[in-house]
Amino acid sequence: MKIAVLSRNGKLYSTRRLMQAGQERGHDMHLIDYLRCYMDITSHHPRVIYKGESLEGFDAVIPRIGASRTFYGTAVVRQFEMMGVFPTNESQAISRSRDKLRSLQLLARAGIGLPVTGFAHYTNDIDGLINLVGGPPLIIKLLGGTQGIGVVLAETRKAATSVIQAFRGLDANLLVQEFIKESRGEDIRCFIVGSRVVAAMKRKAKDGEFRSNLHQGGKGEKIKLKAEERAIALRAAKCMGLNVAGVDMLRSNHGPVIMEVNSSPGLEGIEKTSDVDVAGKIIQFIEKNAHNKNKIKDRVKG
Ligand code: ADP
Repeated sequence: MKIAVLSRNGKLYSTRRLMQAGQERGHDMHLIDYLRCYMDITSHHPRVIYKGESLEGFDAVIPRIGASRTFYGTAVVRQFEMMGVFPTNESQAISRSRDKLRSLQLLARAGIGLPVTGFAHYTNDIDGLINLVGGPPLIIKLLGGTQGIGVVLAETRKAATSVIQAFRGLDANLLVQEFIKESRGEDIRCFIVGSRVVAAMKRKAKDGEFRSNLHQGGKGEKIKLKAEERAIALRAAKCMGLNVAGVDMLRSNHGPVIMEVNSSPGLEGIEKTSDVDVAGKIIQFIEKNAHNKNKIKDRVKG
């Protein structure tokens, strides 16, 4: 098959592994920097043009769209969809997952366990917001943040009030969330491909840190998932309309709670920790589904 990896950087581990896994399985792999594509959106024959050439004859695209490039990146994926090319994740599902609030609302609607969460932009009722999530200690998140940046643990009401005021001053959207203390700086990343959890890992924060992001010095470890965790991860990905997803959850006293569903989850940490050929699983998923386009169509309302 002719498959494109839509990525800005061919040197990234995830991009390299996807290219390599496709080549090993005999596919014609192309690396395409989606920001350098332009599109003919008016004609009856929609096209994507890259390096002066019209991209033709592709069976599938694997979007690896950076968080700060969602707008243009999803437009390119949508254009491929209009050309009848199979995407591992549809443009609509990627956009949906990039909106943290919308994602949490959809997960809540589906009855999926979440930390108690409040959302605000410019409220004067800071005390009310703090009480909503059960008081301090609590977590405050800037909505635009990734890799743990903009996630703050406020241990006292005074600290929480100052941080909320500061974020409000930045004209920012913020989430206030119950602090899941019992997770003790550990979270679980489940990697979903199709309707299976193909790999999972536990991420442990470094000493003195509550954020377990690998970018914040967290370490990945092998984990055996409980059936309940596997089931909730699959439901969360499905609820977002994603075929390939990284679902992050915490182990709380009231069962697993979902923090986030990521549409371009990194491969390095998960492959090295779990010893699973995740890139190969993504290619196999394409082999099975690229010519059965009606089977996986976005049906999420919202
Ligand atoms: P980002 O999307 O920037 O990675 P997250 O929401 O995933 O932000 O938070 C970063 C890390 O902070 C998580 O991996 C987790 O370890 C910790 N964390 C986030 N929310 C909570 C919470 N409600 N309770 C306890 N720890 C949390």
